[in-house]
Formats: sequence, structure tokens, C-alpha cells
Amino acid sequence: MSDNVILIRFGELYLKGKNLSFFENKLKDNIRAKLHGIECKLYFGRGRYVVKEYASADEDAIIFRLRQVFGIHSISVAQRCGYETDEIVALALKIVPDSGTFRVSSHRSFKKYPLNSMELNRMLGEKLLLAKPALSVDLHEPDFTLHVDVREQGDVYLYADTIACAGGMPSDTAGNGLLLLSGGIDSPVAGYMLAKRGMNLTALHFHSYPYTSQAAKDKAIDLALKLKQYCPKLNLKCISLTKIQETIHNKCKPNYMITLVRRFMMRIAQRVAVAENCGCIINGESLGQVASQTLESITVTNAVVSLPVFRPLIGMDKDEIIEIAERIDTFKKSIEPYDDCCTVFLPDFPLIKPTIEKVEEQEIRIENYNELIDEALQNIESIEL
Ligand code: ATP
Ligand code: MG
Repeated sequence: MSDNVILIRFGELYLKGKNLSFFENKLKDNIRAKLHGIECKLYFGRGRYVVKEYASADEDAIIFRLRQVFGIHSISVAQRCGYETDEIVALALKIVPDSGTFRVSSHRSFKKYPLNSMELNRMLGEKLLLAKPALSVDLHEPDFTLHVDVREQGDVYLYADTIACAGGMPSDTAGNGLLLLSGGIDSPVAGYMLAKRGMNLTALHFHSYPYTSQAAKDKAIDLALKLKQYCPKLNLKCISLTKIQETIHNKCKPNYMITLVRRFMMRIAQRVAVAENCGCIINGESLGQVASQTLESITVTNAVVSLPVFRPLIGMDKDEIIEIAERIDTFKKSIEPYDDCCTVFLPDFPLIKPTIEKVEEQEIRIENYNELIDEALQNIESIEL
């Protein structure tokens, strides 16, 4: 059994006022579910949670899992003692190195503790300097900061480091959204960002089998599995666009291909969203990134849906998106070289500034437009994740 405990802090939840208990209860459930299978005790106090009584060998796994729980702002691995001065001093001497610069930063929520935080800092600083002559104090840029947290009922926690976590709001507190999940870099990041705000996701992947390979679909499944680590209720649906794309290819001008496919995608997405009880559509568009993401293209594809469409990456550069993709571990999977359905029948000169009137002129050529959508929806596939 480890002597250590893990302190969990949450950030923005405090803005919640009267709804706080709803968010806290979700966060507690999510932490419990995430640590399922690891033997430990969870203590949920006011303002801060603690993981205790776990095997030392499980510490890294607990930290890894907690870093995937939205609503947790940071964690620290700490050691605990009682609030007798001798005990605190003994533990501080054990934790602080023998040489270098240091400072003590105390926080006292147990108001019956006789010293205030300034007095506790000073008392511990003096004891440390006396016992370890090679130490010196630096309040601004110390090599080592000893944090001392005197809690309610006189539990005292001492720790050095704070590990940043995912932040955001607890999963399952912000409704459901339909994520358009390709196999690319952007859409998993877009999903992550809404999941981070507490949204449950249903992912929808379009393929053009046999023009796109089974490997391309497997890649989308793998990406969905990666997102599921952050968004436990995520599920995945797949729909074939093959017949729709062949029809467009046969009946419409080649340079309208992408615009027309994307309008089909959005119409289908709206139907799936309604069926899956999702209140919005989420995609990975970033303004101007490619021809289909100019203001004119987005206007034309957005026009066929009434649900709000969230584009969390709209103002981000590719390198900023990649930075997040690397951090959430989707990047390596995303760059595997399999074709997306959008590359099937790709025209040499896709439209950069489509207009609704011109696009509708093309769509009229597809007499069985609605039947194609119905048929695609009838063949929707639910993937077990
Ligand atoms: P990504 O890296 O997410 O694939 P992208 O830069 O390749 O994006 P587009 O191909 O224009 O851009 O796609 C824009 C958005 O449309 C994607 O971020 C995604 O949300 C959605 N999308 C594209 N292809 C598919 C697909 N095959 N299935 C589901 N959604 C898709
Ligand atoms: Mg793509």
C-alpha cells in the first residue's frame, strides 16, 4: 500500500452556483467509473477530492486515467500527516531535498489550526534551514516548492508538484452532439473540444466502400476508440456514400462534386442527429483550410440544416490543431495514409466560391435525391466500441 495520496482539484465548477451539486455528482461518477478495476478509496470532500489507499504499483495508472477525466483541473501526489507540528516538520524534512533553493507555500482551510498560513510557512522554513544548512530560501524562483495543505479535520498534505489535467466540464453535463468523424487530423480534435465541455458524442463516419478501403473505416473506428477514453458514452455510426457519390459523378458537373457531397453529408447528419437525440452537429472545419472550408462553401453546406453546427477549430491554424491531436494521442492514427470518402471522384478544380442558386441547379439533376438519403440511412451501421 502506498503512503501517498492523490489530491484532485477542479477548476471552473465553482462558477456553477446552485447547480454545483449536479456537476459535482457527475464528476464523482466519472472518476469512479474511470478508476474502476483499480483498488483504492475515494474521498469526496468539499472543494477537493482525494484518492487514497492504493498500491504503489498503481499510482502511474491512476494518474494517467485521472488526466483523461474532464472537470479535473490538476492533481498532486501528496503525503499525509496529522496536524501536530512535530509530524509536519518530520514529513517536510523527508520531502525537501538537502540542498538548493526552496520556499514553503501553505494553505489552511482547517481554521482551528493554530498558525495561519504565513506563520506556518515561516515556522517550516526556519526548521528546514536549521536541519539542512545547504538549503537557502528563494521566494520567487525556487528549485523546490513545498506545498502544505491543512485540511478540515486536521489532515495535512505535503507535496511538491502539480500535474496539469484536461480541465473542462464533467462528461455528460452538456447534452449530446453528433460529431462528423473522418479519418483525418481535425475532426477527432473537434470532438475532443466539445467533449471537454461536457458533451456526449455520437460519431458519424461516412465511407465510400469499395472506393475507400476497409482499412479507412477501421481507422475511423480506432479514432473513435481513442476519443471514447475521454468521452465514455461515445458511440459510432457508419454510413455509405458510395451510391450518392456515383450518382453525383454521373449527373452533375465535376467541379461541384465536393460541395454536393458535403450537402448530402449535412442533410444525412441532421437526420441522424435527430434520431440519436443530438442537439447539434460538430465538424472539424477550419476557415480557409481547403476549398470546402471557405466562407462561401460553409454557407452553402450549412444552409441545408437547421440544427446548430459547432466548428470548434474554425479559427485555428493546422499546427495548433496538430498540437492538440498529439496531446490527446489521435495524431499518429490520423496520419495513417488511407483515403477519405471526400477524395473519391475528386475534381481537378473544386469550387472555392459556390453559390446556393448554382448548387441547387446541379442538385435538381438528381431526381431521386431524397430516396438516396433514405436508402443511405436505412443502411446505417452501428459499430460496437
Ligand atoms: P479532417 O482532418 O477532420 O478529415 P479535413 O481537413 O480533411 O478534416 P474535410 O475533408 O474538408 O477537411 O472535412 C471537413 C470536416 O467534414 C471534417 O473535419 C469532418 O468533420 C467532416 N468530414 C469529412 N469527411 C468525413 C467523413 N468521411 N465522415 C464524417 N465526416 C467527415
Ligand atoms: Mg478529411
